[in-house]
Amino acid sequence: MVPPQTTENTDSNGAQQASNESALETARRQLRHAAGHLEIDPNIVRRLRHPTEVHEVTLPVERDDGRVEVFTGYRAQHDSVRGPYKGGLRYHPEVTRDECVGLAMWMTWKCAVMDLPFGGAKGGVAVNPKELSPQEKERLTRRFAQEIRDVIGPMQDIPAPDMGTDPQTMAWLMDAYSMQEGETIPGVVTGKPPVIGGSHGREEAPGRSVAIITQAVCEYYGRSLGDTTVAVQGYGSVGASAARLLDDRGANIVAISDVNGAMYDPSGIDTHSVPSHDEEPEAVTVYADETISNEELLTLDVDVLVPAALGNVLTEANANAVRADIVVEGANGPTTSTADSILDEREIPVVPDILANAGGVTVSYFEWLQDINRQSWALERVNEELELEMEAAWTAVRDEFESRTVSWRDAAYIVALSRIAEAHNARGLWP
Ligand code: NAD
Repeated sequence: MVPPQTTENTDSNGAQQASNESALETARRQLRHAAGHLEIDPNIVRRLRHPTEVHEVTLPVERDDGRVEVFTGYRAQHDSVRGPYKGGLRYHPEVTRDECVGLAMWMTWKCAVMDLPFGGAKGGVAVNPKELSPQEKERLTRRFAQEIRDVIGPMQDIPAPDMGTDPQTMAWLMDAYSMQEGETIPGVVTGKPPVIGGSHGREEAPGRSVAIITQAVCEYYGRSLGDTTVAVQGYGSVGASAARLLDDRGANIVAISDVNGAMYDPSGIDTHSVPSHDEEPEAVTVYADETISNEELLTLDVDVLVPAALGNVLTEANANAVRADIVVEGANGPTTSTADSILDEREIPVVPDILANAGGVTVSYFEWLQDINRQSWALERVNEELELEMEAAWTAVRDEFESRTVSWRDAAYIVALSRIAEAHNARGLWP
């Protein structure tokens, strides 16, 4: 099982999984759980348990040595009641049909909690991208684009990068699609390089939203960022952006980490002087005077813990040892269901991934808006609009949190599901 990821890159997995629960089972359990708090027509819930369509395609690709290898690709489209399907494409050996369906469902909730006019999708190819040369990856991507061409499009379904794919992959996909359509159609994918219609600020957007939400939740609990200590697991696209922005806003970042371990400095780390995963891979401990393990980082006595590396890192085994006052999920699905219950019982608030890291899909939405309107927004505008969208989503979730006395996760799912159910109600069932 691929660890849960919902970066729109997902998308990667926007939810937590019990140890042997599949992504689809988790997504269905969460749907049932959120529906239990709401008076929703059970027929709508029944529909939402299933994807609208799942496309499975065969991808014969010529390897550099002349052999032809055959891969399987998927695109699961869960629900489009609020707009075109939206979600990442991942290249990973363990991509399966059911995993794509579960992740597509999480994208539906993530877009709805942000009130974006999108539904949820997810896709991918069962392949190990590390075993492909750049040329092989390009051939695979172009063939995949051709095979799913009829079911994607700027008004139909808009892929984005996810695990194992990146802006270059999106550029090939957009090029292949555009060549076949006979015109340049940048809005068919998001997460492209800015030179061909990608948005400024997309790369750091999930980390930026983590920082915005962390500040909001700290203020909610009566703390100013200036008096807040933060530990961040993972120093990649999400973790480094979140740590640096929180640092810039006055928080005291006492620990950061990568796969090799963590840098720890109780007097505060100068986050800009430590290279992120993109700038110099796995270098955090090289720059550290004092190191601790990732496991120790997760149980540090800090105000805020931001797991921003992997899924399933807060588990039954360590949830009782967590000493942070607040957890903000930067990664997708960092908290297992059991850990979630333990933290809930211990009254440690956990702000869920579908809200905290949703800056990624939100700036993807901005990218799509720019593409279909043939505009390019300045970085300042992107960041200002993102701030507004995050504030609106935060307010909606906070209102549910307060009025229903539920967890932050339940509050976010309730916001999402209410919006989706309302749209289904208004549109009705065809025929
Ligand atoms: P990344 O590859 O840029 O960085 C990952 C970081 O985690 C690296 O610093 C890496 O060293 C570290 N890491 C890897 N294995 C680790 C381990 N075992 N212990 C501790 N650290 C480890 O990835 P990213 O894009 O920042 O994604 C991180 C998480 O955030 C994932 O769950 C991803 O799905 C989620 N996410 C990403 C985006 C996005 O657009 N990039 C959006 C939303 C959510």
